Amino acid sequence: MLNIGCHLSVSKGLYSAALDAISIGANTFQFFTRNPRGGKAKEIDMEDINKLKQIMEEYKFAPIFAHGAYTMNLASNKKETREFANMILKDDLERLKLIPNTYYIFHPGSHVGQGSETGIELIVNALNEAIDENNNTIVLLEGMSGKGTEIGRSMEELKAIIDGVNYNENLGICIDSCHLYSSGYDIVNDLDGVLEEIDKIIGLDRVKAVHLNDSKVEFNSNKDRHEVIGKGTIGLEAIINIINHPLLKNLPFNLETPNELDGYKKEIEMLRKEYR
Ligand SMILES: [Zn+2]
Repeated sequence: MLNIGCHLSVSKGLYSAALDAISIGANTFQFFTRNPRGGKAKEIDMEDINKLKQIMEEYKFAPIFAHGAYTMNLASNKKETREFANMILKDDLERLKLIPNTYYIFHPGSHVGQGSETGIELIVNALNEAIDENNNTIVLLEGMSGKGTEIGRSMEELKAIIDGVNYNENLGICIDSCHLYSSGYDIVNDLDGVLEEIDKIIGLDRVKAVHLNDSKVEFNSNKDRHEVIGKGTIGLEAIINIINHPLLKNLPFNLETPNELDGYKKEIEMLRKEYR
């Protein structure tokens, strides 16, 4: 079965989001651990988490994605910004110990002019502070489009972060079809070649999750503009190849396309029909 869902609001709690997911034919979903622009996370509600646990089992959910705040920049050139980022990273991971079957996904960060080597070092230091031998949560670095001074635009950068982390058994990557295409990985004309390269540099066993998006911008543009499935530069055929590729087809996919619930429902229905 295709494990697919989309980004959903958890303003009414995780259980409510799981019900929304079920109502649109999804068996996974993604949520922000806190306001995407940063700020305080909500109090932990164990009743909500227990109800989530039950319904995820009942409906055979694939792992769900907890996405870190966009403002969390572990590679910032400002000490206060880094300290805030380090604090929310630790807090997110602490909270996720309570939520079952969840992958933590975050944007590695932006070096803001310090150079990618320094940026990578700062990210590695933060992860080494946050992840100890007791960490059981799968933590995934998201591959980025490479806009501005973003780190994670290449497999080499992601690999350098993974290699620097002491307890990296549960550290992997989330690939985003839009970001891959924008950062110069031609998943439209050479998906096999891209996967081979990921395997050679990082190892496909580290790829645990996929963000499935079409793109509003051209190949190798280093821009990050998601489009609804089939309406963008990647196109429906390439997206169908991704969900059916033998090396990817069993992973959980979450859509982050510009849609309301109804639009997501249509995309999920369509992709389920195309799954072989
Ligand atoms: Zn993301």
